[in-house]
Amino acid sequence: MNNTHHAPVTVIGLGLMGQALAGAFLRAGHPTTVWNRTSAKAAPLVAEGARSAPTLHEALTASPLTVVCLTDYDAVHELLGAPGVELGGTTLVNLTSGSSAQARAAAAWAEERGARYLDGALMAVPPVIGTAEAVILHSGPEEVFAAHEPTLAALGTVTHLGADPGLASLYDVAGLAMMWSVLNAWLQGTALLAAAGVDAATYAPFARQIAAGVADWLPGYAEQIDKGSFPAEVAALETDARAMEHLIEESEAMGVNAELPRLIKTMADRAIAAGHGGEQYPVLIEEFGRPYEGRAGALGEG
Ligand code: NAP
Repeated sequence: MNNTHHAPVTVIGLGLMGQALAGAFLRAGHPTTVWNRTSAKAAPLVAEGARSAPTLHEALTASPLTVVCLTDYDAVHELLGAPGVELGGTTLVNLTSGSSAQARAAAAWAEERGARYLDGALMAVPPVIGTAEAVILHSGPEEVFAAHEPTLAALGTVTHLGADPGLASLYDVAGLAMMWSVLNAWLQGTALLAAAGVDAATYAPFARQIAAGVADWLPGYAEQIDKGSFPAEVAALETDARAMEHLIEESEAMGVNAELPRLIKTMADRAIAAGHGGEQYPVLIEEFGRPYEGRAGALGEG
């Protein structure tokens, strides 16, 4: 019915990521216009069939959709907010990394200048862009996403999270919290076992099984959080806290770092002191859901 599967697209910013984005659009058959502050970076893409816009204005007006991917939001404002840059009538998808507040401010800023604006977060590295492995999150007006989804899908597995333009950035950092927490927990166990002569490769399959098993608990635990009710169906928090003490003792006895186990135990102890020892682990959401500074039992208060 329409030709959006091969709709023209512009990519502004040809760093490592922008080059991957433009390359994926080209491979998917989209007529692709590119622009970069350092124009020489366009050459490899031109060799693949991209058109290098001689000016930013021409880049912005060449396509119904312009994807922007620069170092940070300051660079986006510096470039697109420069005197004489017209955004009226453009549709911008900003895949630059930043905070949710920066995304919301950029959305308001772009809309004031007559642009349609979607924010996005790239949960992927350049080599996987253009494959299903590249998870790309979008937030902002649903109709803008719907209109350009067939084009954006050339970049990877794309999802629209909601109208709030800050959501993509928030999911991005939430995902990073998960990634580092899993890796840190694995490193803690790896260090403990290494002290007993077990190598990392031997422990890794066991760690993987535990991580996957815990991941399966998330939907049920999420239900408890959404209901605000934490019956101890599997274990009470105070039982977990006793096991945390073992982890601290083992870490210290084996001569490995006990900072992370202590942090975990500190948070559980605060929840227990607040009367939640008989409830299930996700009751700790109350500890995670507020700042710790200035509260009794905060880290660093002895
Ligand atoms: P990069 O290779 O350092 O490229 C930065 C780009 O921003 C270049 O095109 C640069 O232009 C441009 N730029 C910076 N300041 C500018 C300004 N004031 N005016 C105009 N252009 C400006 O970085 P990258 O790896 O492509 O990353 C780009 C974005 O993607 C970042 O927000 C990053 O967090 C995000 N991201 C990257 C990865 C990754 O693995 N690379 C993964 C996820 C998300 P010049 O070429 O002229 O310097």
